[in-house]
Parts: sequence; structure tokens; C-alpha cells
Amino acid sequence: MIQYSITRPLDITQSTIDRVLKPLVRLVAALTDCHLRPLISNLMSDETFDKDAIITALVEETRKLRAMVSKLEEKIEHGEAFDTTFAASKYASRHLKREEIPSDGMPAKHVVRLINDVHLCDFNPLLNTSSYVNVTSEEEEQAVALIGAQINIADASVYPSSIELHNSTVNMIANLWHAPKPPNGQDYVGSGTVGSTEACLLAGLALKFRWRKWYAKRHNLTDHEILAVRPNLVISSAYQAAWEKLFRYFDVEAKIVKPNLLKDKMAVNAKNLVAQCDEKTIAVVGILGNHYNGNYDPIWDIDKELALLNAEKGWQIVRFLEFMTLIVIVHVLLTQCHVALQKGIHVDAASGGFVAPFQELSGKGTPGHYDFRLPNVLSISSSGHKFGESICGTGWIVFRQREDLAEHIAVTVTYLGGSSDSLTLNFSRPASGPYVQYYKLMRLGKEGYMTKVENQMKVAAYLRNFISNLTHPNGQKRFQILDGGDTCCLPVVSARLNPDLGLHYDDKDLQHALSESHWYVSGYSLGFENPATFEFEDIFSDIDQASTMFRIVVKSNLSQGLAENLAHKIKETLAVLDDLDEGYEGVKQKIAAMKAKAAVLSEIPNVHKPTDKRFKALAKTVLFSKHMERKKKERSNISGSIVSQATC
Ligand SMILES: *Cc1c(COP(=O)(O)O)cnc(C)c1O
Repeated sequence: MIQYSITRPLDITQSTIDRVLKPLVRLVAALTDCHLRPLISNLMSDETFDKDAIITALVEETRKLRAMVSKLEEKIEHGEAFDTTFAASKYASRHLKREEIPSDGMPAKHVVRLINDVHLCDFNPLLNTSSYVNVTSEEEEQAVALIGAQINIADASVYPSSIELHNSTVNMIANLWHAPKPPNGQDYVGSGTVGSTEACLLAGLALKFRWRKWYAKRHNLTDHEILAVRPNLVISSAYQAAWEKLFRYFDVEAKIVKPNLLKDKMAVNAKNLVAQCDEKTIAVVGILGNHYNGNYDPIWDIDKELALLNAEKGWQIVRFLEFMTLIVIVHVLLTQCHVALQKGIHVDAASGGFVAPFQELSGKGTPGHYDFRLPNVLSISSSGHKFGESICGTGWIVFRQREDLAEHIAVTVTYLGGSSDSLTLNFSRPASGPYVQYYKLMRLGKEGYMTKVENQMKVAAYLRNFISNLTHPNGQKRFQILDGGDTCCLPVVSARLNPDLGLHYDDKDLQHALSESHWYVSGYSLGFENPATFEFEDIFSDIDQASTMFRIVVKSNLSQGLAENLAHKIKETLAVLDDLDEGYEGVKQKIAAMKAKAAVLSEIPNVHKPTDKRFKALAKTVLFSKHMERKKKERSNISGSIVSQATC
């Protein structure tokens, strides 16, 4: 339209329009929000317009535009447009919680500020003794993590060298756990994962498919018929919620064995565990450091029991040729390794995988082996981001062998010049985990890990000793210690308030009260939803589910100095809780009484309102009780999903 109206009467050539007028008009229209528009539309409707007037108008607009652009340039150059404080910028009033992407962007430093503000409202991770996940890192390590964050470790064709680093890390870890050496100088069989959960799921899948093949052969079932048989997995009720995912997602029946809390300090009884096995069992899980109190399941005993059972039942892997069997046996004898028995062990060494080997190196090991030195151990998983000291999102799975085990979940990826196995649940992921794990293994060496673990055990011993010596004003002990102590255990302190004291507050209340001094210590109820029955049951055979306990995980950042502060804060908090004599249980009555009193007081003039110490303490308690009620409500709203109180 413009072209037509302007060109004809003024007789301007097409090329002038293309080169000069069109871009100019577009620019002017965009930048001035169409000062020219009225003019142009006038021109279009008026046949008798004046050529000079258009040119003058254009010249004028161009002059204005030039002035504007140079002013903007000047502003940008001096940083005026962006260089103001966050508080003085328009972004300070921008809502954090959003439903929609904002229409315009914002300066980088202000986005960082927004995100920092969000994180500010989290607990202080360095004072969180509830979680096992590493929260400290060196500056160099952060740089390494950043390099890794930009590498897709699933992409073997672009990052073959990074995959070699990943494989080296698997090798070092497999070696630490005494995995049998693979033939022909090959890499050990395993993979980096996103924490132990993925590692446990992968092991579970490999074991399930291995079992399926064996069971189908044994019972002459077709590929289709075997799908109707539901396998099971045998595990202690002190399992971590990762296993609940396996039961649910991969349709595996849970066969749960309840350990003893007081007598065995949560270590499962090997005989009871293995007794649960039947033909449909894909594996027995031994937990190397349960998350409640850090105690180790006796993997060494489980292995013995399983060997007896496998022999008794004749649960051997069925090999199709006698001759082949002979060769395999000779091979086994020569290489001391390849497992021929059907029922094997998966060791869930989420925490212990990077603790037990170093305790052993410093002469404070377990009474028996806990890793691939035991012939029935088929796979081991661990969280690199727990005591492995790597960045959050690091985990490891190592298989005894590829044959009839890892191969069941391997997807071969070919790339230019080679092929590699992908053993993980998903493909693309950052290389940060393997990168930082490699950094930490190289940085600390075995010596470093050994000393670090020894220090952590010492700090745990200090805390355990301190709280076990605390006494109630009536002379009785404040706490009953529930962890495994100094050996055969993670650096964890677990205890519960002495039940003989008949206190009105419990360990969860202690957790909440203690959080006022910024410390986070987790309290637990000793009940769980049994995935086999969907009933809420006692976790341990000798303690009922209404009981509570708490744990303190001594991570590498919990220095002796910090531990001393925590110990004294526990002592002070107990005194406050004692002071609230009727405790949390009595809060509702107290509130009712207070309200009644306030109502009476408001009717009677000139009487002082209650302002004593008790009143203040009460106000504090009201807050806690509200918090507890909210928590309870949250719990009741999530029926149908897995209810788990486990933290990682
Ligand atoms: C923490 C933990 C897991 C899960 O590990 P993530 O690394 O959090 O995925 C599994 N098993 C045990 C025994 C654990 O302590």
C-alpha cells in the first residue's frame, strides 16, 4: 500500500524504495510507534499531497531517531539502564512464585538475587544433621562441577574422553569393593547414576531379568507365561524409600524382615532374612549402613546363609551344556569369581560404600567381608554424594560381571569409531557427578578418606558420649543410645529420650524445639507402611510404631567445634522442654485455658494480663503445635502415594 501510494505520484524508483524508504519507514514505525502512521494514511487517502512535506517529515523523524539512538547508546555505555541496586530496580517487586513466564527478561545479577532470596529461606544445610548428602565443596571442585555441567555424559561420540574418565572412576570404585577383574583388561562393569536410588533400581532390574530367564527355564515357561509370575525381593524393614520405588515401579513383591532395635541395633538377622527366600526371589538385599542408625547388616553372614540355601535347594544357574558347565567351573576356579548360584545379594551401600572400606584399611573393619570378596554378592550400589564426598546427584552401581547380569539392562550405543554400554535409566545427563567424584578420589586418596572417616567416627563418639551422660533432674539418664557404636557402623548417633522418664514430649518435639537454635536433627516415628500389605506397621520387631527416635549424621562438615555447640544446644533445649511441664501434649488444654482466662480478664478491668515466663514459653509451644498439626494434615492428604518419612 505504502509502496503504491508513494511511488506513483512522486515517481520514486523501486530501488530507492527498497534501499532507503522501506527500511526507514520500518525503523521509524518500530521505534516511534508510528508517528508517521497518521501522516502516511493521510497521504494514502489524499491524492494531492506534497512531496516536499513527506521528505521534510522523514528528515525530521530521522533526526529525532538519531538523537534517540545516540542517547540510548550513551546510556548503555554508562551502564545507566542496568546499573542500579536490586531494591531500586523494577524487579524488586516482581513476584517469586509464578504461574507464567514473565513477558520481559531481567538483568542476570538480579535473577541471581531472586534465586538467592529463595534459597535464603531454606534451612542452613551446614547445620542439617538429618541428611547424608554432602554439602561442602572446594573452590576447585566447583570449577570441575561447572565443566561437567556442560558435558552430556550420555553422548559417547562427542565426549569419548569424558566417558573414559567416567569408566576410570567406575574402575577405582569397583576395585575398592574388590570386584573380580574383568577379562582382557576390560573396564569393570558399572555406571555412574543419579544417587543410590537409580543404582538400586538398575540392580533390581538386572536381577529381575536374570531371575526371569532362570525361572522360565526351570519351569518350562514361554516368554509370555513368565510375565504372569511376580518375583520378590527380600530386605530388612529398615530399608530406604528407594526400594519402595522398585517395588512399585517394577512390580516386585516386598518380602520384609523386621530387625530388632534394642538387641541387634537394627542389624538384620541373616538367618531370618535368607529364610524368606523362595524360587521367586530375585535377590536378598543387605544394607551397609541403614539410614536410621547407620548400623551394618551382616553381609558376611547373609552370604554364608545364602550359600547353604543355594546348595540345599540346588538353585544353580541352569547351563544348557554339561560341557559348558565344566568349562565354567574351571573358569570359576581359575578366576575365583564368576557366580554360578542363582540367589545372590545386592549390597545397598549407599552410605557404607565409602566408609566400610576405609574403616577396614585403618584396622577397624567389619568381622567379615561385605563386598565382592563374598561369592554371592552380585551387585553393589552407593551414593557418591554421601560419604563419597561428591556433588549431589552422584551415585554408583557396580556389577560382578556383565554376563547374565549387567547385560540384561545394557543398551549398546554405537558412535563414530566404537560402541559403549549404557546401563542407566535415562540417557542425557551432566558429567558433574563423575567429574567431581574423580576429583575427590584423586584429591583425597585412600589416606585422605581414611583419616576423614576416622575423624567423623571420633566426632560421633564425642556426641554419643555427651548425650549418653546427660541426666534428668531426677537422676535418670536422659537418653537411650540406639546406634551400633564405634565399629561396624556409619558415623551416626541415634538415640531416643529415655522412655522410663515418662516425658510429655518426644524425639520429634525435640527436633522442632532444637530447630530454634538453627540445628536440624531428624526425629522419626518407628512405623512404616508395609508395601506388601499396605498396612501401617512397626518397623522393628521389639518397639511399637508410636515410639520415636532421632539421628545425627556426622557428615564431614560437622567439625568437633560444631558438634560441641550442638551438644550444648540439645542440653539447653531439654531444659526448656522440661520447663513446659505438661509439654506438647498439653498444649491444646493450655490454649483453651488461656483463651478462657483472657476472656475473663477482658471483662474485668485493671487486671494485669499474664506476662510471666510460662506465658512466653506457651506462646512458643503454640507455634510448634500448629506446625505439627500442619504436618499431620499434609500426611493425611497424600493417601494413595508412598508415605515415607525417610530423608536421604
Ligand atoms: C540414601 C540411601 C538410599 C538412596 O540414596 P540416594 O542417593 O538418595 O538416591 C538408598 N539406600 C540407603 C541405605 C540410603 O541410605
